[in-house]
Amino acid sequence: VFANVVQAPEDPILGVTVAYNKDPSPDKLNLGVGAYRTEEGKPLVLNVVRKAEQLLVNDPSRVKEYLPITGLADFNKLSAKLIFGADSVAIQENRVATVQCLSGTGSLRVGGEFLARHYHERTIYIPQPTWGNHPKVFTLAGLSVKTYRYYNPNTRGLDFEGLLEDLGNAPIGAIVLLHACAHNPTGVDPTSDQWEHIRLLMRSKGLLPFFDSAYQGFASGSLDADALSVRMFVADGAECLAAQSYAKNMGLYGERVGALSIVCKTAEEATRVESQLKLVIRPMYSNPPIHGASIVATVLKDRDMYDEWTVELKAMADRIISMRKQLFDALQARGTPGDWSHILKQIGMFTFTGLNADQVAYMRKEYHIYMTSDGRISMAGLSSRTVPHLADAIHAAISN
Ligand code: PMP
Repeated sequence: VFANVVQAPEDPILGVTVAYNKDPSPDKLNLGVGAYRTEEGKPLVLNVVRKAEQLLVNDPSRVKEYLPITGLADFNKLSAKLIFGADSVAIQENRVATVQCLSGTGSLRVGGEFLARHYHERTIYIPQPTWGNHPKVFTLAGLSVKTYRYYNPNTRGLDFEGLLEDLGNAPIGAIVLLHACAHNPTGVDPTSDQWEHIRLLMRSKGLLPFFDSAYQGFASGSLDADALSVRMFVADGAECLAAQSYAKNMGLYGERVGALSIVCKTAEEATRVESQLKLVIRPMYSNPPIHGASIVATVLKDRDMYDEWTVELKAMADRIISMRKQLFDALQARGTPGDWSHILKQIGMFTFTGLNADQVAYMRKEYHIYMTSDGRISMAGLSSRTVPHLADAIHAAISN
């Protein structure tokens, strides 16, 4: 029956870990997957998450009943507040429909399917480059995917002119995917002035913003600062979508906790939108899982736990920033040819090194260092101990 099923290729990002796991070398280093590691190279469960889990386990009133299709109500309210801000007018006016989804990916997918069913323009523009899953998620959601210029390899910065030109040429009403902060894979974000430009252009053409917020708090260490772009768009009163993930900022990767919010013009519209989101979700997975969302709600609604979270979040962000400095210094010390200042300038979990596919392959073969073939390295996978090994490898790859 299945004799004609062909072997599918590994996922380009998750496949890096598959290859890493097979490598017997004691020096091997996995900089492929975007998950935080401690200085000791270990996954981290935040203390505040452990505390929240203890509270949940010890609460006899907790049961394992199904959640509603839209998820945990408290979680949804608190998630909208987290991204749009405590004083958000859109929230006060009940113009936001929020549903709990399966982490960032699930939120993007549900949002994509909703738009494919109910929005008049089926084209979504995604940045070039972007997270590898974006085109697949949106295509399967029923949208037609196009790209807009984002990154200039020569400056290793934003191709701002190209971006404005491409969005300026997009059809009226097209959907535009924007990374809220810490653009993956480039680590290059617009400045707030540039965001304002983008906002004005998009609003003047009726382009619909769909924010992907997978790194709130992880980029700068400040939850508010990392939501600036989203809040600028919401403040003008027009529509906007936002997909949130708690994978990175609360370290809840495998719990699959996220939220999709759709900001509407009126409360009445938001109610109708929510009713349609339920019709998207019900046949897909019926209703979302309870545990991760309960952890998030427990942390977000308790002032002390919230504060504790922000301290732990800042510590993760700071460790990544310190890795940038250490790697930059190590390359300087080796006299590695080229300008490596982008390692310091880029934002968030990743550095888009500029290494080409041959250099990436060389580093894997000779140094057992694993990264995606576009030269993206996860700074969160580095430690003071492994920086010299990586710097040696980059130096050799460049000089080779
Ligand atoms: N968007 C971006 C830009 C990402 O980098 C990621 C995670 N790598 C996601 C969305 C989704 O992650 P998750 O589904 O684990 O929340």
